Amino acid sequence: MTRLIFLGPPGAGKGTQAKILADVCEIPHISTGDILRNAKAEGTPLGLKAKSYMDRGELVPDDLILDLIRERLNQPDAKAGWILDGFPRNVNQANFLDNLLREMSQGCDRVVNMEVADEVLVERMLGRARKEGRADDTPEVISHRLEVYRQQTAPLIDYYSDRQILVSVDGDRSLNEVTTTLKELIAL
Ligand code: ADP
Repeated sequence: MTRLIFLGPPGAGKGTQAKILADVCEIPHISTGDILRNAKAEGTPLGLKAKSYMDRGELVPDDLILDLIRERLNQPDAKAGWILDGFPRNVNQANFLDNLLREMSQGCDRVVNMEVADEVLVERMLGRARKEGRADDTPEVISHRLEVYRQQTAPLIDYYSDRQILVSVDGDRSLNEVTTTLKELIAL
């Protein structure tokens, strides 16, 4: 049973690695960013509400995210384990997740903190913008997302390290090297 949270700044490679690992473990990769981008692309009520926040690089309000996570973790496929990518993203979301998991008699095995220097993050995101055309990968929005990460998400590093479930991984290596480290980690 594998239950992991991926933490780290935008552009750290969380999504890429979380997806690979979820495939290996045959468990769902639950990315709130992907869920919101799909909702936005489909023009659902959630997508319409989330759009302006996402395009500005702000977090969408917690009330849009919390029910969605509760529902997703209650889906049958999540009984076998899960990898959360992009959630929780602030202390309120982390407290909510704690309570939810307690309610479900589940726990999280590890929180993987992907570390990458700011200059590298910015370069990667600008490269991604050229390739994938994400609306939130412009220089101004990128720098705001990093600021939001530092203010709201980075406090979760202490939150989880106090519980002794945090592991930090150097994300500034080749894709394969990072995957190898992560596989070793979850085999423990
Ligand atoms: P990145 O990690 O590169 O910023 P994500 O795909 O995780 O990308 O998130 C993209 C955007 O979706 C965020 O900037 C934010 O607006 C929104 N978002 C994703 N997850 C959350 C969350 N847990 N809480 C609030 N907003 C979120």
